Amino acid sequence: MIPMLDIKRELADIGDEIKKEIDKSLNATQFILGPNVKEFEESAAKYLGCKYAIGVASGTDALHLALKAIGIKDGDEVITTPFTFIATAEAIVYCGGKPVFVDVDEETMNIDVNKIESKITDRTKAIIPVHLFGNPCNMDKIKEIANKYNLKIVEDCAQSFGATYRGVKTGNIGDVGCFSFFPSKNLGCYGDGGMITTNDENIYKTALALRNHGSYVRYYHEMIGFNSRLDDIQAAILKIKLKYIDRFNNERRTVAKLYQETIGNCVGYQKETENGINVFHQYTITSDKRDKAIEALKQSEIASAIYYPVPLHLQNAFKYLGYVEGDFPVSEKLAKTVFSLPINPYLEESEVIIIGEIVKKALV
Ligand SMILES: *Cc1c(COP(=O)(O)O)cnc(C)c1O
Repeated sequence: MIPMLDIKRELADIGDEIKKEIDKSLNATQFILGPNVKEFEESAAKYLGCKYAIGVASGTDALHLALKAIGIKDGDEVITTPFTFIATAEAIVYCGGKPVFVDVDEETMNIDVNKIESKITDRTKAIIPVHLFGNPCNMDKIKEIANKYNLKIVEDCAQSFGATYRGVKTGNIGDVGCFSFFPSKNLGCYGDGGMITTNDENIYKTALALRNHGSYVRYYHEMIGFNSRLDDIQAAILKIKLKYIDRFNNERRTVAKLYQETIGNCVGYQKETENGINVFHQYTITSDKRDKAIEALKQSEIASAIYYPVPLHLQNAFKYLGYVEGDFPVSEKLAKTVFSLPINPYLEESEVIIIGEIVKKALV
């Protein structure tokens, strides 16, 4: 049985080191905004090259609080793609904003930068580029558009911890970066967790208050905030795992390369963005006959998954936005053809070849 995610192998490798840190956190008994949160925030900021990092309760909260911190409010429009996890767009709605979708580029699977400008109105306030499956967006073009129309950029880095664009880490390119530490992410904890990054002191200060009931000093509240803090125990886990993130991401890239060599040209691949380094949160390929590959894998007890089977504009939750089938043909096509193979730092070369061969045999 080969699962999509293999935390057991991770624990066999670095579990002892992590358990020691969990134990220390337990003994220190400072579970809320304790020393590990500060330590992890500092190390993460240093790793990403940004000034500020703020640990929060989830990636969804990171997006919500980041949008609040840049001032998104009732009636504001925020541009993103319909080919992402729903949290990207939910966060816009939490602030009273309206998600305005722009189709993705078929090759990179990221927002099609040539289709953004036609969706900008005088209510547009921000763009959320999603570095999907770990592949950075074309940030040069997005920054150019944002500058021209005075829009903020909130990067959804939930799937791209460690990915770079022109050598700069994602989350340190736009105005704000939003990370998720959901267990399956490239940098994952053992529960829910998230983080906001920025170089802007005002955004930093606002986000800091928003995560903790609008408060800087206990029982003095400057604004209405939320309860959204990263747990000390989760921060302790992340602190250890951060040390290995480059190794983990490089191993993912090695797996990806071997998959492509093994499978060959019977499937479509996500193209790495020019000047970008993809960290392969998911290894996602395309085929009109994906069901055959998925079934063959299943017969051999190998997991696979479809991210994402329904684009956001066709979700019942977003019916009220008024989109219909055909509005975003590329996203709709990808939803019908994509499938993802197991990828993690602990997948062995022999396993990658076996999986690749099964996919190839099912599709040629
Ligand atoms: C996982 C994910 C989120 C949400 O993160 P959570 O920690 O699960 O709340 C947001 N956006 C994208 C693209 C994601 O993959």
